[in-house]
Amino acid sequence: MSDTKKIGLMGGTFDPIHYGHLVLAEQVRSNLDLDAIYFVPSGRPPHKDGNKITDKNLRLAMVKLAIADNEYFKIFDYELKKEEKTFTVDTVKAFKDMIDSKAVLYFITGADQLMKIESWKEYEKLFEEIIFVGASRPGNDDVQLIQQIHYLKDNYHARILHVEVPALAISSTDIRNRIREGNSIKYLLPDRVEQFIIENKLYK
Ligand code: NAP
Repeated sequence: MSDTKKIGLMGGTFDPIHYGHLVLAEQVRSNLDLDAIYFVPSGRPPHKDGNKITDKNLRLAMVKLAIADNEYFKIFDYELKKEEKTFTVDTVKAFKDMIDSKAVLYFITGADQLMKIESWKEYEKLFEEIIFVGASRPGNDDVQLIQQIHYLKDNYHARILHVEVPALAISSTDIRNRIREGNSIKYLLPDRVEQFIIENKLYK
């Protein structure tokens, strides 16, 4: 029997982390029989204005609180330690350096990212190194996305799995808006994360 591990890397800003992320990660872990999922909070995501993102230590603290009760969930905080913009290809390399390089790696994130993936640094190399798991929200018109997945498979031999996750109806943007408008966020994210948001007066 092979001892090659299967590991998920769950990339995202997590501003804040919510049950949609957690349900997705747990479903992917169980469906693909992964040995672990490492949450990889973005430091300064390449295509984003860093000023609008919550402080990285606060986002990291919320991820830690959210995953504490799942023994399969861990954190890879490589991107948070870097001052400069971070690119997934470099993160994957750093992760491989850290673990057994024989592991099969799955990179899990929002499926929207697949639409612009040809703008990612060294995306062709990335397709060789990882299996992409793109998660969509229910009700999204996926025709263009499915076309894009075919295109990426045909042109780059990309390995891509597409999952639709009803729980992703929850979104970080919606949670931030609710807080700003004084509406409840109960049941959208773990209680411990909600308490942390209240204590630190985030998203007001
Ligand atoms: P984001 O703005 O946090 O999210 C974009 C959309 O995808 C949002 O709708 C978001 O929903 C959803 N999403 C994000 N992470 C998700 C996850 N793990 N599971 C399910 N849905 C998720 O996206 P981002 O952080 O900038 O980028 C996502 C990942 O791609 C990060 O790891 C980032 O470093 C990487 N990336 C790499 C490059 C590159 O290497 N050149 C370029 C762009 C992005 P919520 O808001 O509800 O989370």
